[in-house]
Amino acid sequence: MKKETIIIFGAHSDDEILAAGGTIKKYSLEGKKIISVTFHTGGASLPWLKEELVIKERIKETRKIHKMVGVSKTIHLEVPEFRRKKESEKNEAIKKVRDLIKEYKPSKVFCHSKFDIHQDHRFVNKVVLKAVKEAGYKGEVYTFDVWNPANILDIIKKQRPKLCVDITNTFKIKLKAIEAYKSQKLYTYQLLPSVHYNARLTAGKLNSKFAECFEKIQ
Ligand SMILES: [Zn+2]
Repeated sequence: MKKETIIIFGAHSDDEILAAGGTIKKYSLEGKKIISVTFHTGGASLPWLKEELVIKERIKETRKIHKMVGVSKTIHLEVPEFRRKKESEKNEAIKKVRDLIKEYKPSKVFCHSKFDIHQDHRFVNKVVLKAVKEAGYKGEVYTFDVWNPANILDIIKKQRPKLCVDITNTFKIKLKAIEAYKSQKLYTYQLLPSVHYNARLTAGKLNSKFAECFEKIQ
């Protein structure tokens, strides 16, 4: 039988770990194939370094971290970041995502939530949901929040459709993976308290120690 495939779309190379690192590791231990797709690999967040060098380093770093959590394939879409995207760039991104969905036929697709306060994150949401529609994709679609803990609380409290995954056994490796993102240190360290907080908060739902919850879109 063909391995069950899951695709996770994130804006930056650490979003998938912050939002779903425990779930990725858990699924990979269950024998599922995990594909991580990153929209922006650019070095714009470290302006004093040469962009090309930053991209090379970041790809190397991401590969190492993805190995830790069991991602089987990492794809960098190289979409320009930190500004309003042109319509043509958006359409090109939609086409790339649509092709990936058609090629890999995932059982589940994960991407950013439309409620995220980061515009690059919302861009991923728009592109992926549009691509899902255009591809006629019938599998499951879930969204995650990186920069909006209030929405996570909202998903848990209200009867919105959701998927909560018990990550008690993989939470440690998630934290290790976050720490390993040295290039994103300033950014990821700020988020560590909320990673802890969310894992405990969502765990209440499952009666476990740590969990990750996602909103079900389809
Ligand atoms: Zn991000």
